[in-house]
Amino acid sequence: MTLSPWWIAQDRVDIVSKRLGLEKWMREYLKSCKRVLDVTFPVRMDDGSVRMFSGCRVQHNLARGPAKGGIRFHPSVTLDDVKALAMGMTWKCAVMGIPYGGAKGGVACDPKKLSLGELERLTRRYTSEIAFLIGPDKDIPAPDVNTNAQVMAWVMDTYSENVGYSAPGVVTGKPIEIGGSEGRREATARGCAVSIQLACDAVGLNLPGARVAIQGHGNVGGILHRLLHEAGARVVAVADSQGAIMNPQGIDPVKLARHEKVKGTVAHFPGAKPISGDALFSVDCDIFVPAALENQLTGARARRLKARIVAEGANGPTMPEADKILAGKGVFIIPDILCNAGGVTVSYFEWVQDIQSYFWDENEVNENLERIMRRAFEAVAARAKKESVNMRTAAYMLAIERVARAIAIRGIYP
Ligand code: GLU
Repeated sequence: MTLSPWWIAQDRVDIVSKRLGLEKWMREYLKSCKRVLDVTFPVRMDDGSVRMFSGCRVQHNLARGPAKGGIRFHPSVTLDDVKALAMGMTWKCAVMGIPYGGAKGGVACDPKKLSLGELERLTRRYTSEIAFLIGPDKDIPAPDVNTNAQVMAWVMDTYSENVGYSAPGVVTGKPIEIGGSEGRREATARGCAVSIQLACDAVGLNLPGARVAIQGHGNVGGILHRLLHEAGARVVAVADSQGAIMNPQGIDPVKLARHEKVKGTVAHFPGAKPISGDALFSVDCDIFVPAALENQLTGARARRLKARIVAEGANGPTMPEADKILAGKGVFIIPDILCNAGGVTVSYFEWVQDIQSYFWDENEVNENLERIMRRAFEAVAARAKKESVNMRTAAYMLAIERVARAIAIRGIYP
């Protein structure tokens, strides 16, 4: 049976809240989404026809601050998945200690099949459909799967044109020219790299020379490939949605990037052997990075996995059954809400810079990112040790506790 990400997300909250001794009403509160907006809207296509698209924006919890979370464009976007992702953002912001609640949005579409003009019209119409929910003090979108700085620029422009003034703080992950932050594009991968180094220290693995396999080669997997290579690790296998490749001697990220620019995929890279996407999970490696979509690491794949560290670059990549199997094998998992939190952390820096209209240089961004990643990793590791639980449970304990405390302090209105 395939469990839905929303079911898995709620179940996790239930288990951890019970362990924390939270009251039943608080558990129910934490398990539900504050606001769910479902939208369907028309977009004029290049050939003159009109197509209907469905999307949504979900705000899970606002107890610790305005809602924060990405917008994804993917054919498989469903409301339930977006609810799970929005909830994940609440925990991610809480565990990192950044003052936001959690949100997520999405449109069911395949942006690879849309022209640039169609993508722009879709983005602008979706933005206007959710416009009353978003704003610099209310809900701040950012890039997620298949969305990028250009998409954020259209969101910012559409919102700004409607309110009548420029509101750079309404989105993060936008181009530098309109109030984006240095280092934001690489931030998720950079945060992953920091947490992988810390995990290596924890298990006594030398990152230089360590073998890495990465599922997903976009903004997270692709940039992480380069960063880990620069740190001396050997990336022996990578996969994207169109193919997977392996080379035990290591895959050069610069040459692969050149190949991807031409072919649009890692597949058929001359410097490596083609393998199936499923075979990626059997590759000999020390560190495995799922940096694609949810539910990729199934029980069966976890049984075959050889890595000592799993670094969750994606949101929700590991199924509960796989979690148990990996724990039994003594694998060190860096949970998504910690591992990939570099993105939202630099989003926070971007928002702060926008509000102050005072911009930092890249060094300052990266240093602060590393400091916050390290602080969160150490807090989670300390909690894991104290409670004799794994890193995921410890991260959830910290996050849920912080959100529950904020709710309790604010009180129940009226
Ligand atoms: N989409 C990213 C995430 O899942 C970034 C969200 C943000 O920066 O607000 O964490």
